[in-house]
Amino acid sequence: MEELARRFGTPLYIYSYQTLIDHFMKLKTALRQLNPLVCYSVKANSNLAILRALVDKGAGLDIVSGGELFRALKVGCPPEKIVYASVGKTASEIEEAIRRGILFFNVESLPELANINQIAKRLNRRASVSIRINPDVEPATHKFITTGKITNKFGIDFNTAYKIFLIGLNFSNIDILGLHIHIGSQITSSAPFVSAIRKLAGFIRRLQARGIKIEYLNIGGGLGIVYDKETPQTAEKFAAKIIPLLENTGLKIILEPGRFIVGNAGILVTRVLYVKSTPKKKFVIVDAGMNDLIRPALYDAYHQILPIRYTLNAIRSSEKVDVVGPICESADFLAKARKIPRVKEGDYLAVMSAGAYGFSMSSNYNSRKKAEEVMVVGNKTFIIRKRETYNDLIRNELIPPFLLSI
Ligand code: PLP
Repeated sequence: MEELARRFGTPLYIYSYQTLIDHFMKLKTALRQLNPLVCYSVKANSNLAILRALVDKGAGLDIVSGGELFRALKVGCPPEKIVYASVGKTASEIEEAIRRGILFFNVESLPELANINQIAKRLNRRASVSIRINPDVEPATHKFITTGKITNKFGIDFNTAYKIFLIGLNFSNIDILGLHIHIGSQITSSAPFVSAIRKLAGFIRRLQARGIKIEYLNIGGGLGIVYDKETPQTAEKFAAKIIPLLENTGLKIILEPGRFIVGNAGILVTRVLYVKSTPKKKFVIVDAGMNDLIRPALYDAYHQILPIRYTLNAIRSSEKVDVVGPICESADFLAKARKIPRVKEGDYLAVMSAGAYGFSMSSNYNSRKKAEEVMVVGNKTFIIRKRETYNDLIRNELIPPFLLSI
């Protein structure tokens, strides 16, 4: 890693191809009885190489925007393996997805359903949809990544969904093929999934009593991973809990994991710029900031931080520090009051478990160039995203002519 950091510079995202594929296959294998379509959630890490690697192994893709559809098609994902969620799909995004023939939209409101119908009618096409249910379950995760409680903006409550199924027939150009849930992210126990699926099973029986049949059940993503001392369910344990609920239902099962597949397949390597002691604290100032990895600032998320090289002496003199970036915000930290081996200027630190919602949430705040990303495959390393240049930062900016003449 030190060699890669020297060669490619820092901040540097490093992904392991092998780990990425292992995680995907673990889930596929554990759930093989259900033969599910695993649609990797593009938002977790949307680099084309990551997407291509997974699509190559048979993954479908879960998208939430026209941009993600563009990426999905770019890497050759068959449209019939693409599912599209989001509470705010625009008309042009919907039109493009219909034209491309995606498997279905996960519809999040009645007005959205009406809009999709209108657009499909105009295009003289039929659009397939699943209804995203908000099952009102407590996923026991950070409040910002809870999505299946009735106070969240996502999905449709059971009663409204029931009405939609009944009036669904009035939508001339829509086929309602299934149900969808996604109850939150970084969920470490199977209980919330089981509780949500049980609720859905009851709802499906209610529909069947009215002669309404569905073909697909999309149970979303949300499987948690190890960041610190969590003991999340393994793929096998998750499978053991949910297979009994889903086998013999005749339903086609879809999953949309993101973090589980890519989270621990990536790290962020950063270099220590300065060690600064103040009367109250010691700060390790590094060259990666909240623009590179916003999770600590946004969710108070924990990422393990390990010096890439350290001596026994450095471990013996471990000290509590704040690991902070160069950005002009007090929220710009990677760790607070964290005991790490003593480090000095020029040392490299690995910020662990940074593969998901790391680069994909990064920005150019403070006019910082986005980091480089590399993928390690066996003993080879490939650049999968070049470091940005200053010209990239201003590529789309224009100064009105009247200002130029001043
Ligand atoms: N599906 C939907 C609709 C989502 O909103 C998300 C994440 O927010 C995911 C899947 C992926 O979640 P995770 O990365 O926790 O598996």
